[in-house]
Amino acid sequence: MRPPLSLYDNYTRTLREFAPLDASAPVGLYTCGPTVYDYQHIGNYRTFMFEDVLKRVLEWNGYRVRHVMNVTDVGHLTSDADTGEDKMEKGARRTGRTAWEIAELYTQAFVADLKLLNIEDPAVLCRATDHIAEQIAFIADIEKNGFAYVTGDGVYFDTSKQPDYGYLARLDVHGLEAGKRVEQGDKRHPTDFALWKFSAPGEKRQMEWDSPWGRGFPGWHIECSAMAQQYLGDFFDIHCGGEDHIPVHHTNEIAQTEARVGTRLANFWMHGYFLILNDAKMAKSSGEFLRVQSLIDRGYDPLAYRYLCLTGHYRTQLNFTWDALDAAATGLERMRQGFFALPRDGDVDGASVERFAACVNDDLNLPRALAVAWDVLRGDLPGGVKRATLADFDRVFGLGLATWSPKTVDVPDAIRALADARLAARQAKNWAEADRLRAALQRDGWEMEDRADGYALKRKG
Ligand code: AMP
Ligand code: ZN
Repeated sequence: MRPPLSLYDNYTRTLREFAPLDASAPVGLYTCGPTVYDYQHIGNYRTFMFEDVLKRVLEWNGYRVRHVMNVTDVGHLTSDADTGEDKMEKGARRTGRTAWEIAELYTQAFVADLKLLNIEDPAVLCRATDHIAEQIAFIADIEKNGFAYVTGDGVYFDTSKQPDYGYLARLDVHGLEAGKRVEQGDKRHPTDFALWKFSAPGEKRQMEWDSPWGRGFPGWHIECSAMAQQYLGDFFDIHCGGEDHIPVHHTNEIAQTEARVGTRLANFWMHGYFLILNDAKMAKSSGEFLRVQSLIDRGYDPLAYRYLCLTGHYRTQLNFTWDALDAAATGLERMRQGFFALPRDGDVDGASVERFAACVNDDLNLPRALAVAWDVLRGDLPGGVKRATLADFDRVFGLGLATWSPKTVDVPDAIRALADARLAARQAKNWAEADRLRAALQRDGWEMEDRADGYALKRKG
């Protein structure tokens, strides 16, 4: 018997059994996507992989999933207090390109990285700038319902009108109000946030639109409320993002949606915890960050990073080190080699699948699920059964085990000639010559292993 799927919902702060809101429809899944003012770093991809694994676990349990992801290509300010600059306009200045060009460039780079990490494409990848009209209509409804006010620099959400504002993050709204630690400009309350910002007088923004309130651009949070509602409806199954989204971005998405349609947008709110680098937060804005390409440049297969992420539970932070990535690369290599050597003549092992289900359905416990996979690989089930069982698990892991094959190394002719000469020397029991030739091969970076029927050549190191 497969245990039911339980997921940790940050809204209720409980582990809840998952049941789709509408059993006849696909599970609705919305995940906050990249802000495309720069490349995404491997920390961002930890969250995207957690979401990919969640989607795969849902599918593994027999659900169909409709996955919607946004691309933030306008409105994400450098400060959460609505005072900073638009990251896109800043990115444009940094690169000497237009905001529209960098949005396109980094969106394409993101899509390419998803492939490298074996992250399945969302069914819908929607850009904020393609949904300005929907965002304006959303804000107009919020205003009509009495939750908005206009200041000199924008339209703001009045959080004091909502008694449960900040519930997701268990925010101490009154404490914030009393302390007024947050830079608040013309806002009435520290937790109020921009729905629409006016272009500054005299400033020509690259991205700006007309609205009933004045020319400008949407706030960051409204894009997700608007696009999620458009593609998934007023109340859908699961909404995800990184842990940093809990106190501001998701809190505000919920406030906006409550103000418009009276729901908290999603039934489950799930968050991936951060990847940290040398115990410090990995942030694009700090300037130094690792990309998927940085791993490739150092000779790693991007899927080694995927394997590394599977070794940590998504609700705990993961500290990135090169040693940890080395260990993951070795684990992945061994798993691939082991899988590759298995025959294709078996069926899945029911007992192992049950053990696996007990892990992945327990709030995505992938570290334990990986351990079950190793038990299968090392255990004494028939080879074909092992293969079929691991292939089934890999629908969740996404390590591409079934498509992998060992790289055949190209051996240069001169090296082949040395190896042949050494084989001949060995067969003639001319040990001195055989040793000399082996040393020559080693100097050129090759290791020769003697086999009963000949030899094998491997690159050293
Ligand atoms: P952004 O491009 O900043 O909008 O972030 C894209 C996604 O990555 C969001 O879900 C963030 O919460 C998430 N994220 C940002 N930094 C990290 C990190 N260091 N580790 C894991 N996820 C992160
Ligand atoms: Zn979002």
